[in-house]
Amino acid sequence: MVFFESAPAKITLSVDVLGKRDDGYHDVEMVMTTVDLADRVALSSLNGDRIDVSADNQYVPNDERNLAFKAALALKNKYHLTRGVRIDIEKNIPVSAGLGGGSSDAAAVLRGLNKLWKLNLSLEELAEIGAGIGSDVPFCVYGSTALAKGRGEIIEEIPPPPVKWAILAKPNIGVSTRVVFNQLEIENLPHPNTTKILDAIAEQDFYKLCNHVGNVLETVTTSLFPNVQRIKEKMTQAGANGVLMSGSGPTIVGLVEHQYKAIRIYNGLRGFCDEVYVVRVIGHSNTC
Ligand code: ATP
Repeated sequence: MVFFESAPAKITLSVDVLGKRDDGYHDVEMVMTTVDLADRVALSSLNGDRIDVSADNQYVPNDERNLAFKAALALKNKYHLTRGVRIDIEKNIPVSAGLGGGSSDAAAVLRGLNKLWKLNLSLEELAEIGAGIGSDVPFCVYGSTALAKGRGEIIEEIPPPPVKWAILAKPNIGVSTRVVFNQLEIENLPHPNTTKILDAIAEQDFYKLCNHVGNVLETVTTSLFPNVQRIKEKMTQAGANGVLMSGSGPTIVGLVEHQYKAIRIYNGLRGFCDEVYVVRVIGHSNTC
């Protein structure tokens, strides 16, 4: 039997860094949601105590370095399971893009194996296992809209944002999250107002949300890759109502109210950027 689990991309609506911690990580405050650009994760039982993983993308490792492999291993180790699983990943989310593709694959494996192996674990329990794999995995386990704190692993679910459509523009570069955090100068950061973002979501006020989106990591990524700033400017000129970089980048997100506007901006950006997507914002959990 083959189980399919969807692994949606995440976008950030705000990213703030509050300070550096003794353990080397940074304390963050991020508002994140999900979109309908998704990897497709297929899980099937294997004889023997083994994990096979394969992804149809040359930038994704097909071995124990794959976050999906790590997720299956963490689950097996925690519950002393000796079952085998084959994981096939159809990658639709661009890699190293700030869209959390690897984390979402890992989360999809946790949710999928919970069903395949009839473990009856709660999303909270899966998220706790996910936190040991990567800071973004707990958010992806829930797959909704959330305020993430700590190093990103402390999740407070909030209602879906008042935005239906987004344009994602990814320049032809991959960005390492670790490099961006290492180069971040935490003094004098242009902090987004997270409270205002949360208010805009609570009030379902699209324009208020768009006025307050922001990402402190742009200070690093745009200085390393000036093209990211150019694409941000193009997205703004093209008429997106809210524009920011997702995660550590380099993907630039444009928020709009209507599909026709998203398509118009998509057509305008395709000449400047290799990978452009029109996506629907999901923002609620459909993981159970
Ligand atoms: P984040 O914003 O969480 O840092 P990202 O979208 O920028 O994520 P990913 O696409 O998750 O980055 O990939 C980051 C790195 O993880 C790449 O070097 C990639 O080779 C590795 N990786 C391991 N497993 C996966 C996977 N299943 N899918 C994508 N990348 C993976």
